[in-house]
Formats: sequence, structure tokens, C-alpha cells
Amino acid sequence: MIEHDVIIVGGGLAGSRAAVALAQNFPHLDVGLVSKVHPIRSHSVAAQGGIAASLRNLDEQDDWLTHAFDTIKGSDYLADQNAVEILTRDAPEVIIDLEHLGVLFSRFEDGRIAQRAFGGHTNRRTCYAADKTGHAILHELVSNLFRFGTKIYDEWYVMRLIYEEGEVKGLVAFCIETGEIEIMRAKAVMFATGGYGRVFNTTSNDFASTGDGLCLTALAGLPLQDMEFVQFHPTGLYPVGVLISEAVRGEGAYLINDHGDRFMANYPISKNKMELSPRDITSRNIMAEIAAGRGINGGQYVHLDVRHLGKERIESRIPFAREEGMRLLGIDCVDQPLPVRPTAHYSMGGIPVNIDCQAIDRHSQPISGFFAAGECACVSVHGANRLGSNSLLECIVFGKRAGEKLGDYVSDRPQPNLDARRYYAEAEAELKQVLNQSGEQSSYELRTRLQDTMTDHCGIYRDGDRLAAGLAKLQEIKHDYATKLNVSDRGMVFNMELTAALELRSLIHVGEIIMASALQRQESRGAHYRTDFTDRHDEKYLHHTLGYLADGQVGTSDRPVDLSLIAKDEQRFTPQERKY
Ligand SMILES: Cc1cc2nc3c(=O)[nH]c(=O)nc-3n(C[C@H](O)[C@H](O)[C@H](O)COP(=O)(O)OP(=O)(O)OC[C@H]3O[C@@H](n4cnc5c(N)ncnc54)[C@H](O)[C@@H]3O)c2cc1C
Repeated sequence: MIEHDVIIVGGGLAGSRAAVALAQNFPHLDVGLVSKVHPIRSHSVAAQGGIAASLRNLDEQDDWLTHAFDTIKGSDYLADQNAVEILTRDAPEVIIDLEHLGVLFSRFEDGRIAQRAFGGHTNRRTCYAADKTGHAILHELVSNLFRFGTKIYDEWYVMRLIYEEGEVKGLVAFCIETGEIEIMRAKAVMFATGGYGRVFNTTSNDFASTGDGLCLTALAGLPLQDMEFVQFHPTGLYPVGVLISEAVRGEGAYLINDHGDRFMANYPISKNKMELSPRDITSRNIMAEIAAGRGINGGQYVHLDVRHLGKERIESRIPFAREEGMRLLGIDCVDQPLPVRPTAHYSMGGIPVNIDCQAIDRHSQPISGFFAAGECACVSVHGANRLGSNSLLECIVFGKRAGEKLGDYVSDRPQPNLDARRYYAEAEAELKQVLNQSGEQSSYELRTRLQDTMTDHCGIYRDGDRLAAGLAKLQEIKHDYATKLNVSDRGMVFNMELTAALELRSLIHVGEIIMASALQRQESRGAHYRTDFTDRHDEKYLHHTLGYLADGQVGTSDRPVDLSLIAKDEQRFTPQERKY
């Protein structure tokens, strides 16, 4: 059995920032970080446009309260306002911390950190490193982990969360290279396992974004929160789905339909902010244009046009967007518009945690030994819709906070007791069961069925009948997974078919909880749009959804939204109609 004081699962921005905080503040603690890909290959590395903070380097009137209001309004009032306060208050300081850790941000002529406009933000407050911000930050954090000597289990797959007697005690993982199974025990476990974009057939997310941490949490009988809120980013490169950053619109790009119109002007909700409206609204407008036959040549996409920005600005501010257009489609955006349509991008929901990053149960009680931060967590700062550049911020603010809280938490805690032999035997049996099935369906085929079902039945526009039909299809997929899966590589050494099968298990359970949560929310709020219930209904639904698995079936309940700021209760933002 492997033992650490703290085990962090995930080497993206949230996990790495937590590990750095532990190393800086609690050097005597023994920390292990487990990641199924090398930490530097975590999806965070692909983040492009930037990270928000009211540094006031460009717009002097900016402050944390304005950032907080923008975030809460963007969330369609579902965010917990106390958590948003921490996010936005701590933002300027964590950016300076990152700089001190070595992160190279883009700068203005006078040397201050550069900032740009982003959708839904009143002021220009997004700090960036060209359009490769995640790369710049993650590389420095991971270098720091090596400097501090944090023990990293890279390319280890976590397959079970050990939760018994009301307490998280560790995990079961295996080394992908050798197939060796290990029971890992810790005084506290933190999940920083990222999102689940691969639940859908078109996504900006990497192949590893399969929602494993969410699935393992649900399989342990613990709830997931607000899973119906899936962010579809407006500008996925068509047809691949790869992201063209919002920074491109932040720099002034136009969205154009087949008539050559900047169509955002034709919708009352977006006519002021135009292309810089929040993502939920922009994605719905694009889909409405396509549905009305005004996609380019009547097709499934619109144009993102940056030609008027000029080559020099494109090269200095958004070089990656240009590279991606040329690499994937042979289109140089200096001369031609890029074809785009919405792509599954971000998970607003996740493991419910309190403002100290400790996971909570169905009754909002903290769960001993279990913490989470980053995209897999729901603290909840994004509510029903996240503003661009607030996610990297969440990873850094709450990753750092999680590290600090974990250090305090484990200081007087003994190692828990657990029966390692039992967990080992169960893990071995479970892997054998996956490997020895003699069905006729590959996990690739089943995954495609799942992704198509989720996309067709639980996409940008939803309704009760389609969701219910989708859930029925998911039951068939679940049944086929249990009885008809075929894994042709039966060995344990570097068996990527095995990890693909386990990831498929994650996608199925997470997909089912997303759909069940979407079915029960009979209103439209943020990214969740029901064509059969088009209005927001605060009286009935201004609460968080909890979705969970019980005896193999999915169930839902709810918990209240925290509507008061910590600092000034009188300053709380009362829900109002959302217009831009
Ligand atoms: C293309 C793209 C561009 C983006 N641009 C921006 C942006 O400009 N600004 C912004 O604010 N947000 C952006 N986002 C969102 C943001 O990047 C992510 O939400 C954030 O980086 C998530 O970080 P994380 O640390 O939570 O998880 P990730 O970086 O996704 O890392 C997850 C980690 O968990 C590990 N893991 C998962 N499952 C297992 C398992 N079973 N066993 C072991 N390890 C496991 C993985 O190995 C990985 O290390 C972007 C997202 C995408 C996809």
C-alpha cells in the first residue's frame, strides 16, 4: 500500500496549484500527485484566451465587486455569491503570485501585465500570454512541482475512490505502463480531475476529459451538483470542434451569417454587447441562424471574421487561432473568415464543495477527507453559465485555497484504517471482468453511440420528450456496456483499450446524471435551455440540483443557492432579468 498525507488526483492547473501551495506552506507534509497523463499534458495546457482579474491596468474603474457582479449575472444568478466573492477578491493577488512563480504574461509597453476584453465582463480585465495562457501557467506550475520534489505518479489511472464509514480514505489506482494495481491511503484526497467534454461528439476538450473524477464520486454514492449546465462554446472550428478562443472576439472579431450580417445585432438580448455577449447567448444565436437557413451556404456553420484586425495584430495577439485554422483546415484567417459553430466546452457542474474546497454530501455536510477544486468541482462560481477567463481563475484561486486548507486539515489527522487486501481483490476482479468479456461491441462503437445520444438529446436546445427518450437510450448503452463490450487486448501492460473502457464507464454515468438533471429542471437558465419551458423560474428553480446514483439508478434532489456576499450582506445581488 502506498501512503501519503495528501493525495491529489489531477496535474492540471487546479491540482498543480494546490500541490505548489502545500509545498510552499507545509513543506513537512508528504504529498503525492496522481495523473493519468503527464501533468503537462492536462487539458489546462490548451487554455488559450486568458485569466480574469481586476488589476485595473487598462480600465481604472474596475474592481472586484464589478467582477463579482458580472460573474453572478453571467451565472444567471445560480452562482453562490460567497464563493464568487472569494474568486474575484483574490484574483489580483493570485495573478501576481503566478508572476512570482515565473509565469510570463503578455505586457503593455510600460511593462504592466496586458489585459483584454472578454464576453460578459464589463471591463477589460482578462490577463493573457498571447492565446496560449494555459501553456504559460501550467508549465511554470509543473516546473515548480519538480523544484519542490512533489512525488508525481504520472500515467497512473485512478479507478476507485475509497469512501467508507462516512470518510474518504484513499484510492485504488493502477500504473498504465505496467498494469500494477496499488491501494493508496491518505489523510485527505483532493480531486482536480477536470471536465467531461468527451461525453459529446463535438468538443473542444482533449481525449482525457472523460469525467472520471465525477464518475468515481457518483459511484461512491456521493452527489454531483448542477450537472445539467454544460457550456457550449460558440466558436468551435467547423467541423472538428477544436476551440477558436474567445480572445479572438475579445480582439474584435465579427460573427457573420450567410447574408453577410453581423447577426448578433438582430437579437434584443445581445444587440449591445454584440460578439462579446456571454457564451450561452452567443451559442444559441448561432444555432438559431443555422436553423433559419442563414448558416454559410445554408450549412451548419457561420463565419468568424478577423480580416479587419490586420496581420500584425493577429500575429501578436491571437497567433494560435491562426495556426489552428491553417493546420486543420488550410484557412489563413488573415485572408479568409473561419467556419465556426458551437462545441461542448466546459462543465459548470461538478462535485459540490464548500468555500474551503471540502466536498459536501446531500445534506450539505462536509465529507471527511475529501476535497475538490477546478473544473471537476462545483463551488459554485459559474452557476448556470461561466464567463470566459473565469475558469483558469477558479483553478488558481481555489486550487491554492484547497492546498492551504488541506495542509491545515491533515495536520492533526491520523491515517485512516482500511482493508487494502479487500480493495486490491475487488480491483483485480473488476479489471478482469472488463478484460474477459466476450461481446461484439468495441468501446469505440459504444462511445460513439453514447456521444451521439448526448449530442442529439441533450445539446444546446432541450425538451422533456427528447431528454426522456435520450435517458432510455442511455439505459440500453449501459446494458450493452455490461454485457456486450469487447476488449481485444487482454493484457495489463500499457493496455489503452482497458483505459478506454474505464473512461467509457465514466462517460456513461456522467452522461446519465447530466440528462437526468436536465430533465428535472423545467425552466431555462444560463446554458440550460428548454424549448418546452423557455422562461427562468426563480420561485421554483433558484436552487442547485444534486444528481446521484443509488442502486444503479440515477436520482435527483436540490440544495439552496447562497445569495449573500461574505463582506457586505447588504450588497448581495438580487436576481433580475438578464440582458446585455
Ligand atoms: C481548448 C480550451 C481552451 C480554454 N481556454 C480557457 C481560457 O482561456 N480561460 C479560461 O478561464 N478557461 C479556459 N478553458 C477552461 C479551462 O482550461 C479548464 O476548465 C481548466 O484548465 C481545467 O483545469 P483542471 O485543473 O480542473 O483540469 P485539467 O487541466 O483538465 O486536468 C485534469 C487532470 O486530471 C487527471 N485525471 C483525470 N482523470 C484521472 C484518472 N482517472 N486518474 C488519474 N488522473 C486523472 C488528468 O490526468 C489531468 O492531469 C479552456 C478549455 C479548453 C478545453
